[in-house]
Amino acid sequence: MHSDIASRPRSSGEVRYDTAAHTAAADDFGHLVHHTPRLVVLPRSADDVAAAIREAGPLGTQVAAQGRRHSVWGRSQVRDGVVIDMSTLAEIRSVEADRVTVDAGATWSDILAATLPAGLTPPVVPEYLELSVGGTLAVGGVGGTTSMFGLVSDTVTELEVVTGRGEALTCSPARNADLFDAVRAGLGQCGVITRATLRCVAAPGEVRRILLSYPTLAAMVRDSRMLAGDDRFDVVKGAILPAAAGGWTFQLDVAKGFSGPAPDDGVLLAGLSDDPALRQPTSMAYLDYLGRLAALEEALRADGRWAFPHPWLTTFVGDSAVESVVSAELYRLDAPADLGRFGQVVLSPIRTQAMTSRLVRLPPEALCHAFNLIRLPGTDDPAASERLVEANRTIYHRVRDAGGTLYPASAALPLSPAEWRDHFGPVSGVLREFKERFDPDTLLTPGYEIFAS
Ligand SMILES: Cc1cc2nc3c(=O)[nH]c(=O)nc-3n(C[C@H](O)[C@H](O)[C@H](O)COP(=O)(O)OP(=O)(O)OC[C@H]3O[C@@H](n4cnc5c(N)ncnc54)[C@H](O)[C@@H]3O)c2cc1C
Repeated sequence: MHSDIASRPRSSGEVRYDTAAHTAAADDFGHLVHHTPRLVVLPRSADDVAAAIREAGPLGTQVAAQGRRHSVWGRSQVRDGVVIDMSTLAEIRSVEADRVTVDAGATWSDILAATLPAGLTPPVVPEYLELSVGGTLAVGGVGGTTSMFGLVSDTVTELEVVTGRGEALTCSPARNADLFDAVRAGLGQCGVITRATLRCVAAPGEVRRILLSYPTLAAMVRDSRMLAGDDRFDVVKGAILPAAAGGWTFQLDVAKGFSGPAPDDGVLLAGLSDDPALRQPTSMAYLDYLGRLAALEEALRADGRWAFPHPWLTTFVGDSAVESVVSAELYRLDAPADLGRFGQVVLSPIRTQAMTSRLVRLPPEALCHAFNLIRLPGTDDPAASERLVEANRTIYHRVRDAGGTLYPASAALPLSPAEWRDHFGPVSGVLREFKERFDPDTLLTPGYEIFAS
């Protein structure tokens, strides 16, 4: 093996062979799957990415880009292959009146630091600002405003991509449109995104955020539906939390951006059926609102749970089935063991009309709900993780049988090529065709195990 790629002098960025780099590249936020690469490349340019792929190709060595490794099931890892660590390709290239152009390893924090001083924001920003843009685009990217603007991948206007053939190409709806469709929410199967241009809109100065409490799932879902059907809030998120005394509490977390006088809560909350005595309204700077997960991250790091396994499950459930699916799963869940003290079930309404990325799979309804199990166990016991991963499979199958779909971004479960074909359904053939065109040697992103190598 050593007369191969690992031992050749290279000009394509810095190459790391050391244990620290390999150990880091064999881990992710899930801490459940570990594949050690042969080498880790730190590219300085798209040319370095292309050179790494071109060198790997003839040797049949597989390649995976790593953004910030927030995957949960080894999706950015590659056993005995080449990891391209995109964190060194993270420059903000330009901020213009209606767009921002960035290298794909940049994080959402990096982008906002460049756009907010110009009064601009991408229309959809994921909930956690330390994800890379490339990693987010590869899975689609759900943000609080997805009902209005679609996925992050629906807000991108142009991409620079290195395909599995090692070709660097620019793509957009007007240019290399198939490649544009293949890489947005394409799970890294057809290309490594090296640069992205995202649409921008005027950023609000502040956000009015209100937490609403409900006694039952039915009451929460009723208001979720109503709020998803009008535009009084920019963001409607739902959370089902383990109650201290056992059982569940149901919460909507709604937000409206503004600049100038704060919106009238009476108007915003008219007709809702939450418990008014438990309302928690606050106003905060827009960036503080977007960065609201930072406090949880700090608490979880301090508590050790950030480093424990995260067998999350992320799905979409159609509105017609939401109450039956979710109430049945809540009945089965053992909150302390299955979610952990800080864990939660996300249940957020999303209008599907603006979600147009071709490879994203959604229930065929105008309204669906992100139904996610955010499991934060207080243990790294492998048997406990194994049980939860197995539970994810069973739950996913029930969700699928009720017409729901997987959101592969944070889905900790193994899927066979046949199950992936089933997942992609009507676009399964489209993905296969894209793969044959853009990555014919099946080099890229083997961690999803969609195509046999
Ligand atoms: C705390 C937390 C909060 C999250 N919040 C959200 C959220 O609000 N919305 C949401 O949609 N998801 C969310 N996720 C899931 C997250 O979007 C995905 O895990 C995302 O892919 C992670 O980005 P990353 O930069 O860490 O990518 P990685 O985990 O490094 O990579 C993800 C996948 O994309 C591929 N990839 C990485 N970079 C590129 C590239 N440049 N070109 C092509 N393929 C690439 C990788 O090979 C891998 O398959 C969250 C995850 C965590 C842990």
